[in-house]
Amino acid sequence: MTGKSGTGEGKYGVIVCPDCETARVVDLNDKTSRCYRCGKRLILKKMKIYYRTSSSKEARWAVGRLNAEISGGDLPCMRERDESDDPHIKAAKKATIAENERERLEIICRVLGEEIGSFRSEDVKSVLHHMGREIEDLETKLKRLEDIYEREEGVFRSV
Ligand SMILES: [Zn+2]
Repeated sequence: MTGKSGTGEGKYGVIVCPDCETARVVDLNDKTSRCYRCGKRLILKKMKIYYRTSSSKEARWAVGRLNAEISGGDLPCMRERDESDDPHIKAAKKATIAENERERLEIICRVLGEEIGSFRSEDVKSVLHHMGREIEDLETKLKRLEDIYEREEGVFRSV
């Protein structure tokens, strides 16, 4: 940042709703604002302005920081629990350590095998999608893996 403290001038303010403790951006030219989460009517001149800036982008960044601080360690934990329920996301996470495409496929197949038993190339595609990746000729490459066999057309299983 260019020396702006965030407490000076600017039409954007960051406040925290006292009822639901959610940080949000408000237009300081307004007198009131309604909390988008709990619906509480907030009178802006009575609110503590945690951050003030003329950049809406900077204000949103401050909201993100503030919300993360308020929720502490709770949010990431919750997200972790949700993600681990999804075998595709679980596989995607484990496969990030792979050093090459082959290793990536091997890890994905192993995790999918553990999680859902037999799987299809669409499952592998979905995992790759979570990783922001794509593999050409996926089915051919799956068939070439040593620890994988094709149980029936298009259905794979790890051994
Ligand atoms: Zn609220």
